[in-house]
Amino acid sequence: MSVLVFGSLNLDLVTYADKLPAIGETIVGEKLLKFPGGKGLNQAIAARRAGSEVLMIGSIGNDLDGDFLFDILKSENIDHKFITKTSEQTGIAVIEVSKSGENRIIIIAGANSKTKFSDEVLTSSPLVTVSLAQLETPIIEVAKFIQKSKAAGKITILNPAPIQKLDEALLQDTDYLIANETEASFLVGKAVEHLSKDEAVIIAKQLQKNGAKKVIITLGAQGSIYLDQEKDLFTPAYKVNAVDTTAAGDAFCGAFATAISEHKPVEYALKFASAAGALAATKAGAVPSLPSQQEILSMITSLD
Ligand code: ADP
Repeated sequence: MSVLVFGSLNLDLVTYADKLPAIGETIVGEKLLKFPGGKGLNQAIAARRAGSEVLMIGSIGNDLDGDFLFDILKSENIDHKFITKTSEQTGIAVIEVSKSGENRIIIIAGANSKTKFSDEVLTSSPLVTVSLAQLETPIIEVAKFIQKSKAAGKITILNPAPIQKLDEALLQDTDYLIANETEASFLVGKAVEHLSKDEAVIIAKQLQKNGAKKVIITLGAQGSIYLDQEKDLFTPAYKVNAVDTTAAGDAFCGAFATAISEHKPVEYALKFASAAGALAATKAGAVPSLPSQQEILSMITSLD
């Protein structure tokens, strides 16, 4: 009953200043903080804290930043035997944040661009029930991972972020596609930032026509919709005092993968994932905001 995550690991370098510098301008900032990041690592930690065993496939550089991320995997008790060290530098996100909350981000994929899938991972991990991927590593390798996982009888989950075009074969090998509003809209050729529940169901139906099986579209503070061949469901978001929604989507995906790996009904998995997403929105940052299984369960039971 474990979750296998194929994805990125980044060091997030976050600088804080009164304002963002104009082009060519140098300004004095307030501080620089370093955080673990990358959608792969965030979702692996989210799934682990939500209660499942987690194995991660990813790449880091042979450098101090790589050592920092490797230590995070160890401290979170994530199986790291499929993390490889490459000659490329560890992935980095340079994030500038202004007092008013605007940000600018440059991502250096580095070692993440060298992440490869190897069949040996699946043959040597019989307890894996769910394979989970995002798109911060090469899409060709993600497609191989999803396709081989499906062929090996695993439940496959794809979070197409950052968004890019998906071919039909990848959609067909994916059991659960989890996209936010902008990602889902992009996949059907639209540029929409906010969707109503009904609009989301229409887009999910279009995605099914393009080959997707079960589609989840997350709608931020509204909640999420789910569509399979028989039904559609709306799961409202838990009401919280949101301070920073960074990684709400990662918390949702990781927790959903955990509940599905335990063969919970999809209605429950959606509730469990929504509670994780809501809790992640109540704390600043990505990894520090990812909730434990206990926190998720307390939120579900306190509001039932
Ligand atoms: P992403 O971070 O990928 O853009 P969303 O913002 O849609 O994803 O968030 C994922 C899920 O997290 C939502 O479907 C919802 O369940 C939960 N969530 C996100 N923001 C909030 C919020 N402000 N209040 C409560 N729940 C939230």
